[in-house]
Order: sequence, then C-alpha cells, then structure tokens
Amino acid sequence: MSDFAEPDAYWSWHDHHGYTRLINVSGTMTSLGGSIVGARIREATGEAMGRFVRIHEMQAEASRLIAELTGAEAGCLTASASAGITLAVGAAIAGLDPFRVQALPADPGPRCEVVVQAGHLVDYGAPVETAVKLAGGRVRQVGQATSCADFHLAGALGEATAAGLYVVSHHVVDYGQMPLSRFAEICHSRGVPVIVDAASEYDLLGLLAAGADLAIYSSHKFLGGPTGGIIAGRRNLVRAAYLQNIGIGRGMKIGKESIAGIIATLEEWQHRDHTAVRAQERAALELWLHAVAGIDGVRAHVIPDPTNNPLDRLQIDIDADRLGASAATLARAFGEEKPALIVRGHEVERGYFQLDPCNLAPGQAEIVAEILQRVLRRAKDLVARPDDVDLPRNGGVDAYLSWLEN
Ligand SMILES: *Cc1c(COP(=O)(O)O)cnc(C)c1O
Repeated sequence: MSDFAEPDAYWSWHDHHGYTRLINVSGTMTSLGGSIVGARIREATGEAMGRFVRIHEMQAEASRLIAELTGAEAGCLTASASAGITLAVGAAIAGLDPFRVQALPADPGPRCEVVVQAGHLVDYGAPVETAVKLAGGRVRQVGQATSCADFHLAGALGEATAAGLYVVSHHVVDYGQMPLSRFAEICHSRGVPVIVDAASEYDLLGLLAAGADLAIYSSHKFLGGPTGGIIAGRRNLVRAAYLQNIGIGRGMKIGKESIAGIIATLEEWQHRDHTAVRAQERAALELWLHAVAGIDGVRAHVIPDPTNNPLDRLQIDIDADRLGASAATLARAFGEEKPALIVRGHEVERGYFQLDPCNLAPGQAEIVAEILQRVLRRAKDLVARPDDVDLPRNGGVDAYLSWLEN
C-alpha cells in the first residue's frame, strides 16, 4: 500500500524523470513495477545497502521467517519466482552434488524430466517451459490442454522423472485439471518431488499442506515487497536450490538490499491489517461501480479472484453496439488518458475489462472513477483501431521489439 500523502507527491518522481504518469488497476504486473512497496520495507532495503554482511546469514534469517509463515522446513530467496522454478528444477536434478550442479544446464544426466499437465504450460510473461529448460530440465507434457486423468500422470512417471511441476494461476486452463493433492499423491507414490509455482497466490500454507515439496512465491506481487522469489519447502530440496547459486543460479542472484526488503515484507505480512486492506479495496470497487452506473451499454459487477485469493475485482461488460466502442478500444483509450489508466484487459476480446483495486495510492481511486466516466461518456467519439483486439495478445512482445527501435 502506498504511503504518499497525495497524488502529486506520488508523481513528482515520474515528472522528474519524464516517465508517464499512470495508475495501475491491472494487478501486480512486472512491466509496471510489480507492487507499490511501503515505507518500512523501503527503509529496510536502504539500511542494507551501505553495509557488508554475510549473505548466508541473511538467507538463514529469511529461511526462518519463510518456515514460520509457510509451515515449511526451510526457505531461501532468489531473483524472482521464475528463477525459483529454475532453481527448484535444478535442485531436483542435481541435489546436493556440486559437480552435478555445475554441469547444468548442458549435462543434467538421464533423470531430468519434469512432468507438467498440458493445461499448466502457460506464459506468465515468459513460458513456464523456459524456466524448466534453463536448469537442463526436459518438459514432459501430461494429458491434453483440457484433460488430465490419473493414468496420464502415472504413466508418464519413470526412471527419467526428476520432478512434477504444478502451476496455480489464473493463467492455467480452469477445468479438467488434476487437483494438487492428487497430483502430489501420484508423484509421491513414485518418490517424485512436487514443485508448485504459486507466484501470484496468497495462500502461504495450503499448497505445502496439499503436498508441495517446494512452493514458489513472488515477493513483488500480493506480498508487496521488492522484486524477488521465495522458495519454501523441504530442507534438503531448499538447500539444493540454494546450492544452485554456484552454477546457473549466479545469474539469478538476489542482492542484500532485496533480501533485507523481503525479510521486512514477511515480517510486515504477519502483522498487516488484512481486514482494513480489504475494506479499502472494497470502497474503491463501490466507488467505481457507482461511477459507471446508468451508462447505457455498460454493466459492472464485482467478481471474485479466479484462484480464490482474497481479492475482488470490478468487471465491466461492454455492449459495444449500445455504447459505441468495444472493450478493447476502451482499454486502449484508457491507456492514452492523462494519467494513463492501465486496466486489466487480457480478456478484452470477450467484451469486458477488469479493474484491480490493489496497489492504489491515496486519491487514485477517485481519479480512476473520473477517467472511467470521462472515457465511457465519450465512447461514441472513440475511433476503433484494427489492432485494438490484437494489442493485448501481442502488445507485450511489441513493446520489447519497439524499445529503442528508432
Ligand atoms: C508472475 C508469475 C510468475 C513469474 O513470477 P516472477 O517473480 O515475476 O518471476 C510465474 N508464475 C506465475 C503463475 C506467475 O503469475
């Protein structure tokens, strides 16, 4: 949660650097800076910066905290959740053998397959498959996109299997998938450890309780910490993941400032007034619901998070014929406002966009309401562009390709 007194204080930094003033109601997006990090956590990163320290001691403190919060035996920190997946796969392949650790990724040996349900092979900004391959892992797809039966998984396990990877996310196919407890049961019956990508999940306890041997979280998403990845789970697997720092993990290292910041984040998480945060988010949703009420062709309703995180969003359904503009054109138009309003538009081709109320600075919910009204009321004047619908699909890559192009 931001602690800036008013919007202009928040934006003075943007103005100084010439960055676009924007309000993020799309969620915790890497391309927008993950989360807003509170003052106490920012101070903790600053305190570490000016000092030498044994990193192993900091990681051990992080381990104790991670264990306390997750019920795991141990934990460690790395550059990102994506790095966490790679280190976890490396751990499952090479264990605590430093020779094998340094042989990765080129020479993982014969036991390097990672079984993943086909419906879990998603893209979170990069393919989950890439995170596996970086450690020398070979993805073995299990089942089909919309169906995974017990026999699909059981039949895929064998001498070559190093680990099972399970993704919990709104990105995965939302039906026909095996529940984690069953996935773990089948893997464990063959002595195969289960790695869970829970980068964006609030539930720090349930996934390990359901059978994950390693669970991986992002620090910079719902936790509201600095950029980093949290690995929690069985002691020897965590130790093996940490040992990856002498090999492929080096390029994924986390510095003292981020370790200090994540330690502060985890401490704060235990004491955060989650009820007050929910109430604040709820108030924003109510405000926006009120702002768009009565506009012909617009229907707004509160929807729960698809993976049951304690977070609601406002979905705005657009009847393009009545309103005069499609959800896709509107999502693009919001982004051209001043400040730019970045809505959650990854499903705009279905005729709606969503507003995520987390990470708003004081006063921003009101600005969002104004922009919503302003743009929706002049929807008939908006000119659709041919790529409005394609933009959410291609825009992420296009933005990379056009960077420094001219
Ligand atoms: C965000 C996300 C990741 C990547 O997390 P980073 O910490 O940004 O690397 C991986 N998996 C899922 C499901 C995600 O939502």
